[in-house]
Amino acid sequence: MRRNAAQLAEIAPDGGGIAYVTDGAAWLVPLVSRPKESVLAVMEALQARRCKANIAAVVAAQSAFALRYGAYSANPLSEFNKDNPAAGGIVGLPEGLSASVECPSGGSYLFRLQDGSFTISCPNCDQHASRLGSPGDYRKTLSPVRWNYDTAD
Ligand SMILES: [Zn+2]
Repeated sequence: MRRNAAQLAEIAPDGGGIAYVTDGAAWLVPLVSRPKESVLAVMEALQARRCKANIAAVVAAQSAFALRYGAYSANPLSEFNKDNPAAGGIVGLPEGLSASVECPSGGSYLFRLQDGSFTISCPNCDQHASRLGSPGDYRKTLSPVRWNYDTAD
């Protein structure tokens, strides 16, 4: 009768290896692992990179929206409203986002419309900057849209 190669396989209590017991023989296979802090640092750096990409996507879509409609969306992460664009966002806009986005580290992006300019910022900018770049990388401001250039001066 054929037997399974390993009749018993058990993870060591400290997670450092797997013990196998077969036909009276036992051996331990160590698990290669990275320190928890190292894994966390890599994860946070990846989240920071994805956050920068999200912010860049929102900025690009807001620029397209403003070129088309003359102002930035006040609530950009809402659905595009083709019947009343000013009341909608950039999600579903042809040049917009296919879906809403959040910071990969958790939390919603902050938006500010002031004097025609638009600012997006991440609530986790300091945490991201500790892993990748600087806090300013997670905050972008778009200049006011100008359609009429003042030539009087
Ligand atoms: Zn973020």
